[in-house]
Amino acid sequence: MPELPEVETIRRRLAPLVQGRTLTAMQIADPRWCEPFDPSALTDALVGRRVERLHRRGKYLIWEAQDEVFVLMHLRMTGTVLYDPAPETPYVRVRLTLDDGHRLSFADPRRFGTGELALGRPALDAFFKARLGIEPLGAHFTSDHLFTLTRNRRTPIKAFLLDQRRIAGVGNIYANEALFRARIHPLRATGQLKRRQVAALRDAVIGALSAGVDAGGASIDDFRHPDGVEGAFQNEFLVHDRAGQPCLVCGATVVKFVAAGRGTYACERCQPKPRRRP
Ligand SMILES: [Zn+2]
Repeated sequence: MPELPEVETIRRRLAPLVQGRTLTAMQIADPRWCEPFDPSALTDALVGRRVERLHRRGKYLIWEAQDEVFVLMHLRMTGTVLYDPAPETPYVRVRLTLDDGHRLSFADPRRFGTGELALGRPALDAFFKARLGIEPLGAHFTSDHLFTLTRNRRTPIKAFLLDQRRIAGVGNIYANEALFRARIHPLRATGQLKRRQVAALRDAVIGALSAGVDAGGASIDDFRHPDGVEGAFQNEFLVHDRAGQPCLVCGATVVKFVAAGRGTYACERCQPKPRRRP
């Protein structure tokens, strides 16, 4: 599933290709993509307008067009945005054409991806305020800020990291990697982490996400770059998907279990289990 680094990878590749270009056509082949909006609401808003900027917030790819028209794409499980895709590309749900003749496709085998519309910056801000917490690669994501967010939370830290309303953009892979880097067990109670552990976790979240961005994201399942190339971060996992293999730090065996409903990997020597409470 694409997480922040995968979406950021797409944004970085596409931005120079689409910014300043005018969208001359948009075809929404699968109306479910933009429910509850009518496809014509999005096409009418976007077609004929210049793309001012391509942004990212959490796992959302944001197309900012002239006159504060924003289209917010979410890739969910298997979505990706391809640039000049091969004509036979399957599972295309949306097609865009630029004024320089280049084409884009939103391809999405499992059809969970979405497109939404926000007209005006206040609508955009309200959209994200209702859905997303702090941006982990932004300047405000300090250890003090994270410490405040974690207080009085009984939820396990893995579930906390996956909650988009707390921190935006961290999914299963990067939560596993960050907790390993910070040497924190995924089932530790969030509110009981010490200040130094929270500081380590803040650095680890940034470190894991940045490593993912630097590697062009992780290509598991169907994730591809806009040009069809795969990311390389799956070759750099420290703990994710390494069940039964030796820990890269201490040599103990990496274990897999379910936490927050997701496949979770940890070295329980580096990341000691929480003590059971009576
Ligand atoms: Zn270890």
